[in-house]
Amino acid sequence: MAFTVYNSLTRTLEPFTTLEPGKVRMYNCGPTVYGRAHIGNMRAYLFADTLRRWLEYQGYDVKQVMNITDVGHLLDDADEGEDKIEAQAKKEKRDPWEISRGWTELFFADLAKLGCKPAFVYPKASEHVPEMLEMIDGLIAKGFAYQVGGDVYFEVEKFPAYGKLSGNKVEELDAGARIAVREEKKNPADFALWKSDPQHLMKWTSRFGPDGFPGWHIECSAMSRKHLGEQLDIHTGGEDNLFPHHECEIAQTEAFTGRAFSRYWMHAKFLQVDGGKMSKRLGNCYSIDDVVAKGFAPRQLRYCLIRGHYRTPLNFTWDILKESAAALANLDDLAARLRRMQTGVDASASSDDGLDDVARCKAKFESGMNEDLNVPKAIAALNELRGLALEKRLGASAAAAAFQFLRKANEVLGCIQMEEELLPADIEQEIAARQDARKRKDFKESDRIRDTLLAQGIVLEDTPSGVVWKRKS
Ligand code: AMP
Ligand code: ZN
Repeated sequence: MAFTVYNSLTRTLEPFTTLEPGKVRMYNCGPTVYGRAHIGNMRAYLFADTLRRWLEYQGYDVKQVMNITDVGHLLDDADEGEDKIEAQAKKEKRDPWEISRGWTELFFADLAKLGCKPAFVYPKASEHVPEMLEMIDGLIAKGFAYQVGGDVYFEVEKFPAYGKLSGNKVEELDAGARIAVREEKKNPADFALWKSDPQHLMKWTSRFGPDGFPGWHIECSAMSRKHLGEQLDIHTGGEDNLFPHHECEIAQTEAFTGRAFSRYWMHAKFLQVDGGKMSKRLGNCYSIDDVVAKGFAPRQLRYCLIRGHYRTPLNFTWDILKESAAALANLDDLAARLRRMQTGVDASASSDDGLDDVARCKAKFESGMNEDLNVPKAIAALNELRGLALEKRLGASAAAAAFQFLRKANEVLGCIQMEEELLPADIEQEIAARQDARKRKDFKESDRIRDTLLAQGIVLEDTPSGVVWKRKS
């Protein structure tokens, strides 16, 4: 079965095809770096990472670009309000450049902790102002944009397809926007490409004046064009990026190039808290550090954030994270079992037993991922495989095939403990001492050692083939 994706542009599931055979050009709207990314933001980036990994599993060469917005993103996501980074800088009485540099570094560290593959490039908006001005000049020359003093606006009525992504209609936007409309705009729905403000701290000189800075939307149009070309295969973001950000990106890029911008638009639903959005503004956010401070490993958070469907909102609770950690421990256990079974331990008598079942689980995993990244279905296939392992229905060859498949599946999920974890030497010694005590039939001592290890999070299980250990979930 071929890979199908839900395209927000057509609002349908579509078979996935690329502009160039075997190659995927993917742009992910990245963070505005004025604070620590919260785990809701990370859900959007983990969705992009999972998508990339699934494309790579299928053999595509993926060129992934994720921007860093370090200027121009205003508080209301459109043309009004302070620059988010400058507002933060004022609050902290620090230099805005220092603010964005610091949070960008931390953002990269968070991505790495969660096991996200590095993008091909992370372009910074502030380093692409000439490319933005080139597009703005082009849009003015083509009659899609107009200058009023030091500001430049995109004229939505000149681009009849405006609204095709969000379904919004210019006339209705007019009505809704009537109150806070800038008089200089020809139409209330027109949006800024370039703004001038002598008070703005991060500013550039252009032919529109000395105190200018770009609009947030033009940044992504210019950076995607620079790093991926005029046409993309996939553009992603969180659900709130759909309008106005992506709608405006489409208008700018398509008006400038005269070509379709991105074939597929994909949007991840929010991570929620108590049924509402987790957001910096609402102050209900957790960072990876908060999660680690509660005793969870980043890979357990990764699993929690990717195991649902990306188009289903996820309500975050500590119980859900705990349950996810336990579910991931089962997959770690599957890997450990398959490692043993492929050497014949605990395996079914005939080496090929269960080969068909392994192939069936693999097919189910792949068909799940192919259904618009149906991760829950894909994971169900892995749990089915665990059922077979627990019932010892796999022979050594089948277990080896299953382990190989699990390793590939984990290239997509990126959080299962596949290799045997080496324990610190003192714990190994304790385990050996317990074995000796058992041999001496000194069960009091062996139980004491088992309890001491349990207190350190190491669970021992006595099997016919010897003692095995796992971490307490
Ligand atoms: P921001 O830093 O607010 O511009 O958000 C960065 C990215 O995270 C955008 O793609 C947003 O759509 C996404 N995002 C923001 N809040 C959430 C949330 N609670 N859950 C999932 N994604 C989010
Ligand atoms: Zn963007």
